[in-house]
Formats: sequence, C-alpha cells, structure tokens
Amino acid sequence: AVGIAPQTASAVVDLGAFSRNLTRLREHVGSTPVMVVVKADGYGHGMINCSRAARQAGADWLGAATPTEALQLRESGDQGRLLCWLYGPDEDLEPVVAADIDIAAHSAEQISMITAAAGAVERTARVHLKIDTGLSRNGAAADRWPELCAIAAEAEQAGAVRIAGIWSHFAAADEPGHPSIARQQEAFSAALTSAEEFGLSPEVRHLANSAAGLTLPDTHYDLVRLGIACYGIEPAPGLAAGVGVDLEPVMTLRAQLAAVKPIAAGEGVSYGHTWTADTDTVVGLVPLGYGDGIPVAASNRAEVQVGGRRAPIRGRVCMDQFVVDLGPGATEAMGDEVIIFSGRDRGPTAEDWADVCGTIGYEIVTRIGVRVPREYR
Ligand code: PLP
Repeated sequence: AVGIAPQTASAVVDLGAFSRNLTRLREHVGSTPVMVVVKADGYGHGMINCSRAARQAGADWLGAATPTEALQLRESGDQGRLLCWLYGPDEDLEPVVAADIDIAAHSAEQISMITAAAGAVERTARVHLKIDTGLSRNGAAADRWPELCAIAAEAEQAGAVRIAGIWSHFAAADEPGHPSIARQQEAFSAALTSAEEFGLSPEVRHLANSAAGLTLPDTHYDLVRLGIACYGIEPAPGLAAGVGVDLEPVMTLRAQLAAVKPIAAGEGVSYGHTWTADTDTVVGLVPLGYGDGIPVAASNRAEVQVGGRRAPIRGRVCMDQFVVDLGPGATEAMGDEVIIFSGRDRGPTAEDWADVCGTIGYEIVTRIGVRVPREYR
C-alpha cells in the first residue's frame, strides 16, 4: 500500500460486511439483477477488492464512472457485465469496446464516437442510452430523445452498436415523497415508450440507485444500481433501517495517537487558536488531516473514540494532523488506538461525521486519500 505505516493510520475495510450488505440488498430487491457501483475507488474503499467481493456476493453488473476505471476492472480480471458512463469528446473508446465494456451515450456525438470505436476494433458495442428525466446532469433532454433514438436505431441496424440499455438517474430518491420522483418516473416511462416506437428493445432498463432500490420497488425495472448502501452507509438517515435492511458500515478509519501531552487552562490549540482550553486537560495528536480527506469543517465539531469514550476535536484540522481533547487526567499514551469513524458500536459513524461537517456520508468515505493504506479484513 502507498502511504504511511499501517500501524500509524489506516482505513480498515471489512469485505465481509460489504458482502453481507449486498446479500441483504439483493434479498430486498428480490429477483431483480443488481449493479454494484464501484467508481471513485469503490467510494474510497478500494475498487478492485470491492469489485471482487461484489461478484462473489452475486453482483450481476459492476458500474464505473470513467472508461479508465472500467478498464482497470478488466485488467484486474473481471469478465462480467460492466457499464461506464462518463467521458469527454476526446476519450479513446476503442479499448473500452474491445474489452467488452457497456458504454453509456446521451448524444449523437457520443453514438458517433462509439460507432467509430466499434468499427476500428471490429466489434458491436453495447450502448446504454441515457435520458435526462429531471436530474439536469447528463442524459439527453426529453426534446432531443426521439432524435437520439432514431440515430441509435440506425447505428444498431448497421451492426455497429446494440442498444443494450435505456437508463436514467434520480435527483432525490433519498427524500421520500419528493415531487421530482413521480415526475422522473413518468418521464422515464415515456422515454421507454418512445424508444420502442423506434424499434429499440433494450435488454435492461434501469433507473434506481440505493435509495430507490430500498424504498421504490416500482422503479426497479430490470436492474438496480447499488452504490452507497453496499458500503454500509444510509443514502439518507433511516432509509434502509425503515424498510428493515440492516446495513453494516464497511470502513473503519483508525490511527494511533502520535503524541499525548497535558496543556494548561488558557492555552490555544492549532492554527489560529480557534479553541482555548478552559481547564487543564490532556490532548492527543491524531496523524490524519485534510491531506487524507479529514474535512476542515470537522474542526471543533467532530468527535473520535479513544479508550471507549468520545474525544472532541479541538482547534483546526491541519493538513496531516488534528488534536483531540482526551480530558483532564487522561491516561492514554502515544500509540494508543483512535477510532475516527466506524460502526455504531465502535464510535462515531461516517454519517455522524457528515452530520457535523455539513456534508454527506458519501463524501466522508470517498475522500479518504491515497496516503491512508487500506487494510482488508
Ligand atoms: N447510478 C449512477 C449513474 C451514479 O452516478 C451513482 C452514484 O452516484 C449510482 C448509480 C449509485 O448511487 P448510490 O450510491 O446512491 O446508490
């Protein structure tokens, strides 16, 4: 692993928990196939290790954002169905088509890129046409959809592509009852009908992410794309718990205290002295900082666990380290274990950190940097 010595700080990734989460999610969605989304280095957990665990636990598909990620999965030996969806006009898609990776397309230009790549490597490319049903991110706008279907149907008839999928992505599936949900479902259904009129018959229609996989069964179609829930993080507070799916956090971020020392009442801590001790106390130094993905927003807000109790962060989080208040008379020593976040029974969770930092659990785990070695359990 790249980085500082594992005993100093590491992200311990429990692949057993990952597999159990996926198994429970698969049971919950019933017979619908699932895609496990492993982009952004498996949301920070390690893409290749998570992809292998996902396949073993029955992932029918893997999902990657970029062609590079998808090719890395192929290089690691993965041979199953695999979709990638984010690329610019200069991306070389030839190796992607050659590696039998399904590719998303939302425009005539992208269909041309894929057709050219398919011609060059003498294969038929599998394409998933994306409709923007309301996220206003990628995907063809509704008024461009018929034109895209016509172009796709022509490319299919010419043998360059097979339209294997039609898909879209939710804006607010994690907010039950959000008015956009019904609107997006209607728009998706209309896009499917229109595609059919152009003679397209995709093998997989897919719309649901983790939140929809958990709570919106009529959006599952032929495939559910599961990301965050596999990593044991609720898409929004209580969503999985509310439907009886028990998610186990997969990542534990831990470190050893790099220093412990007493400070006197009145002493300021860390850059800018944004916190001053009001009593004599003992502080500990945690060897992780914003260079490792610890948000500066956690300064004076988040807590860690030391010796079975919570210790608050004092002062500003620095690039490589932050200070915690172990409390007056604390007996910890350099080298003692600190849990930055973990499962509910072992300290704050990534969701707790997200709460106090004004962000989402996704960001907390995904941003843990390359300097922190991953240890697999
Ligand atoms: N589908 C697409 C297109 C995505 O970008 C993502 C992740 O953001 C997912 C599915 C998985 O979403 P989640 O992690 O909320 O399950």
